[in-house]
Amino acid sequence: MRASTYPLVDAEVAAALVLEHTPVLPAERVLLGDAVGRVLAQDLRASDDLPAFAASAVDGFAVRAADAGKALREVGESAAGRPFEGRVETGTAARILTGGVVPDGADTVVMFEDVHVEGHLVTVPADLRAGSNFHRPGADVKAGERVLTAGTQLGAAELGLAAALGFAGLEVYRRPRAVLMSTGDELVEVGRTPGRGQITDSNRWALLAALREAGVEVRSLGIAPDEPDALRRLVLDALDTADVLVTSGGVSVGTHDLVKPMLESLGTVHVGRVKLKPGKPFTFATLPEGKLAFGLPGFPVSSLVTFEVFVRPALRKMQGFARINRPTLPVRLGYDARATADRTEYQRVTLRRQGVELVADSTGSQSSSRLMSLAGANALVRVAPGDEGIRAGSIVEAMILSLP
Ligand code: AMP
Ligand code: MG
Repeated sequence: MRASTYPLVDAEVAAALVLEHTPVLPAERVLLGDAVGRVLAQDLRASDDLPAFAASAVDGFAVRAADAGKALREVGESAAGRPFEGRVETGTAARILTGGVVPDGADTVVMFEDVHVEGHLVTVPADLRAGSNFHRPGADVKAGERVLTAGTQLGAAELGLAAALGFAGLEVYRRPRAVLMSTGDELVEVGRTPGRGQITDSNRWALLAALREAGVEVRSLGIAPDEPDALRRLVLDALDTADVLVTSGGVSVGTHDLVKPMLESLGTVHVGRVKLKPGKPFTFATLPEGKLAFGLPGFPVSSLVTFEVFVRPALRKMQGFARINRPTLPVRLGYDARATADRTEYQRVTLRRQGVELVADSTGSQSSSRLMSLAGANALVRVAPGDEGIRAGSIVEAMILSLP
């Protein structure tokens, strides 16, 4: 064992350093069908009014409000997609269906339920008002209006809007491509029976999921042995196609901790140790061509917590998200949160509703090897270093992972 040469960096400083070195990826054009979950790289402006024409909101008759109370002669029909090409003159009415164009001359639409039809004569109520029962051109969106801003994630509503405005494709930020590997001679593939002293590689599956959830295309490289040359070769071969390297294990201080020297040999290590619990050995480096490397700790909870604190925000920045951090909500602590003297702590909690409040209960032992402290956790509660901690009953801003 040797003492680490890396300074212990404040968690907040480390997070800022990561973002400082994180590029926003270039944009690319995708078809609407491939755009769900992607982040818009352009402001979207309407080139036309929406609706583009006066469209009936009901089935009924298009008439002139001035003809209120009269028996009008039916002169034609305006169905959706099949407009009536004539005019509605004084004393006439055009049958109209939902989505049909309100014909020239008409200034209001009366519902079927409100008229009396006899042959070709339509008697309309005495209290007609101009402008009823149809959507005006531009009522939803005006030509030239900005409807979506760059940095917005595209979901169903946004894609529907884009389609309604005639955009068949959109400029979105490229998804980050990551290579992922676990390191450690003790690791065996899931499904194999571990021998004496061996454990199943679980981090790779957790991180694969976390990366995919974060919108990343992942290439999984399997398990690298604790052997410097082999590790370096594996990384070099894989980096060609990647923006981001994510490793787990091999970063704590010990003879088999090879990731930091490997990253040193390829690029620049900016963070080698963090005042963070769990996740003290977290390592961040930049590699040539703007690539990033995250050396996550081997302990399963440490790897996922450091992913949340450092990696996810970077991946969101790369994808052009307007909001880089997870949302926070005020929650009432349901337990006494002990602080660690010299490290920022992220405690895992489950949330429950109590009236209009959310109450955060500890998930139990916060050991960095205990994945059960994270499985089912809804939020992370940040406890500042010191000896004060946070009293049960206090309100804190929690980083929300999911809502109860
Ligand atoms: P390391 O950072 O390599 O010293 O790993 C610390 C501890 O984390 C190891 O002793 C293992 O118990 C555990 N660990 C490391 N890598 C993995 C992995 N891929 N999956 C599950 N546990 C791991
Ligand atoms: Mg190891």
